Amino acid sequence: MSQPSEERRLILRAVRQFVEREVIPVASAMEHRGEYPHALAGEMARMGLFGLNVPEQFGGSEVDYVTFARIFTELSRGWLGLAGIIGTHGVLCDVLVRFGTEDQKRRFLPGLASGERRGGICLSESNAGTDLQNISTTASRDGSTYRVNGSKMWITNARYGNTFLLLAKTDASAKPAHRGMSAFVIEKGAPGLIVSRDIDKLGYKTVETCELHFENFPVPAENLIGGVEGQGFVQAMTGLEAERLNVAARGLGVAQAAFEEAIRYARQRVTFGKPIAQHQLIQAKLAEMATKIEASRLLIESAAEKKDRGERCDLEAGMAKLFATETAAEVSFEAMRILGGNGYSKDFPVERYYRDAPLVVIGGGTNELQKLIIARRLLEKYQ
Ligand SMILES: Cc1cc2nc3c(=O)[nH]c(=O)nc-3n(C[C@H](O)[C@H](O)[C@H](O)COP(=O)(O)OP(=O)(O)OC[C@H]3O[C@@H](n4cnc5c(N)ncnc54)[C@H](O)[C@@H]3O)c2cc1C
Repeated sequence: MSQPSEERRLILRAVRQFVEREVIPVASAMEHRGEYPHALAGEMARMGLFGLNVPEQFGGSEVDYVTFARIFTELSRGWLGLAGIIGTHGVLCDVLVRFGTEDQKRRFLPGLASGERRGGICLSESNAGTDLQNISTTASRDGSTYRVNGSKMWITNARYGNTFLLLAKTDASAKPAHRGMSAFVIEKGAPGLIVSRDIDKLGYKTVETCELHFENFPVPAENLIGGVEGQGFVQAMTGLEAERLNVAARGLGVAQAAFEEAIRYARQRVTFGKPIAQHQLIQAKLAEMATKIEASRLLIESAAEKKDRGERCDLEAGMAKLFATETAAEVSFEAMRILGGNGYSKDFPVERYYRDAPLVVIGGGTNELQKLIIARRLLEKYQ
């Protein structure tokens, strides 16, 4: 495992302290009240966490992918929803850094890095999630403006965010469909964009997930990412590759939190005259949980190290996402069993981990999709 530089170690230590002192003590109560963590998000902005993948020349605190993943794990160990605030925000930054024009980078990246602009990605629609080529939102050129019409579904940060990546069709007749799709930076403000609904969810609460409606919403032509139509699908997919690593890291954080709660409880809870940690069936659970957590960590770090070396890592990132997020779902349920009735109670945080974990199985590309990606790469590799 690579060792981060002194600077990276300091960021990681600051994030860990923030999570221990300011997040863990309040996360469950705030989540139960449905209270948006404005103050915590403000502190994250002050720590530079909105600019983790933005180069310093644009005001960011650009870190390597190993550090990036570790930060997402630390935050999610405290509260998955907090990592959600900077998750899709980071995808927008990633796409702008890779594909934005110099003018777009100059206009958007400093605000995104400072957290003054809060970002997200508008890809999914009610009829298109895994199959994004099936979207029906359009952007039609009207002089120096595009007019957007359609609806987007499941958009994280849509209520409190203000700057988004929008994927829309600029040529509805293109075949294959992705060649007619373009990506834009859209900003709230002009009429024609309505946040029509906050979706009530099982978990991953507090960070808002909304439905958006566009009616002749104007987007200046200079906000077409990269300045060329027809590149949007590839641009968005490239951004999602980095997201796979951050979602894997988030799964690891949830699993770690659930395990820590389970082992703490197992040492204290006494049945049949001894702590349950002394019963072999509980020990077997702890051993399996910890082994899968360690395996998740190694898969994530290995994929992140490959990405840091500039090597292709879709196979490794897919494996890390698949394994770490399935581990999050499994470990949070095992932790609940170890806590018995208390695991099912809102007095303990395990019920929150259990409700949060399925999001990482579905988000960032479902795990069924990860298996397809992994298999496709394996078939290429073993021709
Ligand atoms: C809390 C939350 C936040 C989200 N945030 C965002 C966001 O910020 N921006 C955004 O754009 N989207 C967001 N999403 C949407 C998310 O990306 C999609 O839900 C996800 O991609 C799955 O799409 P879907 O829900 O349409 O399911 P579908 O694509 O309809 O899939 C249904 C089931 O079929 C499976 N399936 C689909 N195709 C295949 C296949 N070829 N082979 C095998 N199985 C298949 C899927 O794995 C799944 O199990 C969010 C979702 C949630 C729940």
